[in-house]
Amino acid sequence: MLAAAQHAAHAGARIAAAPELAAITASEVYPGVGAATREQFADYARRAGTTGHHPVGTCRMSDDDAAVVDAQLAVRGVAGLRVADASVMTRLISGNTNAAAIMIGERAAEFIRASSR
Ligand SMILES: Cc1cc2nc3c(=O)[nH]c(=O)nc-3n(C[C@H](O)[C@H](O)[C@H](O)COP(=O)(O)OP(=O)(O)OC[C@H]3O[C@@H](n4cnc5c(N)ncnc54)[C@H](O)[C@@H]3O)c2cc1C
Repeated sequence: MLAAAQHAAHAGARIAAAPELAAITASEVYPGVGAATREQFADYARRAGTTGHHPVGTCRMSDDDAAVVDAQLAVRGVAGLRVADASVMTRLISGNTNAAAIMIGERAAEFIRASSR
């Protein structure tokens, strides 16, 4: 994640410095004129990076050992506990997350109903 943010910040600075854009821009604001090294851009990414409006993935659903929940949203190794929110998404979806979070909640209700029959 940090590497991607650092690359993005660096790429943005390079694009803005290209002759075609340099002619219509004044000077670099962030991270600031003179920033050139990978470490400077990584430092900027650490300081300025935020989760925005769509944080996901802190309870990732998968079948590998590092996953928190399985395909039925059950917490691996803990009986009777499920997670039903955006945290189970394995990665950020390309659109906004609210509809997908609602769908996850509806699937959780189906799983719980089915398991209590
Ligand atoms: C400013 C903003 C704008 C957004 N705009 C859009 C949009 O236009 N379209 C869209 O699709 N998505 C949008 N989203 C994203 C959308 O709101 C989320 O995808 C969705 O709310 C995720 O649902 P969730 O259930 O995972 O988490 P949340 O809705 O955050 O629900 C988590 C709940 O858990 C509670 N909680 C947290 N910790 C604890 C605890 N320890 N004990 C008990 N309760 C706890 C919280 O109080 C909260 O009620 C926006 C998000 C933000 C912040």
